[in-house]
Amino acid sequence: MKKLFIDLEVCRKHPEVAVPCSYFYHPDNKGVISLRELAAFAIICRQCDEAPCVKSCPQDALEKQEDGTLKRYNMLCISCKSCAYACPFGTIIPEVIPYAVSQCDYCLDRLEGPEEPLCVQQCPVGGMVDYREVEEDPEKDIYFVGEHLAVHARHWEKVEAEVK
Ligand code: SF4
Ligand code: SF4
Repeated sequence: MKKLFIDLEVCRKHPEVAVPCSYFYHPDNKGVISLRELAAFAIICRQCDEAPCVKSCPQDALEKQEDGTLKRYNMLCISCKSCAYACPFGTIIPEVIPYAVSQCDYCLDRLEGPEEPLCVQQCPVGGMVDYREVEEDPEKDIYFVGEHLAVHARHWEKVEAEVK
């Protein structure tokens, strides 16, 4: 099955790139930003027990879910970026914490036809976002996030320290 494919390694090198999205009614449409956030929270975030990002948020807009992943409530977030600066691992990129985002729906209606998603068509950076057949392959740092998204990123895994 084809999936939207996002390469977080490439994204990190181009934080300023705002890719147009089909959801053009949004006043400040930045397309794949919601995908980048979803992918970063799923793959890169260390899921800290005492998450400084959550503690730093003045709006209680960040929450750890039962499975350990973070969720940002867009309607509460004021884009102060405190969470981005509180995270000791650089998980949250300030440019990727906008006040409002276009929530990606993976262009599911568009994909029934011959067209690729607009972000794939118009992204100025090669390899950042794509729509293609892809296999999950941890050895190549490729992971699925949900049903429609594949992510290339270095996955962080918790390793318990050996106590001697
Ligand atoms: S940017 Fe949003 S989520 Fe982050 S600390 Fe500020 S209000 Fe909270
Ligand atoms: S501080 Fe950073 S690594 Fe820790 S939970 Fe928050 S975003 Fe994830």
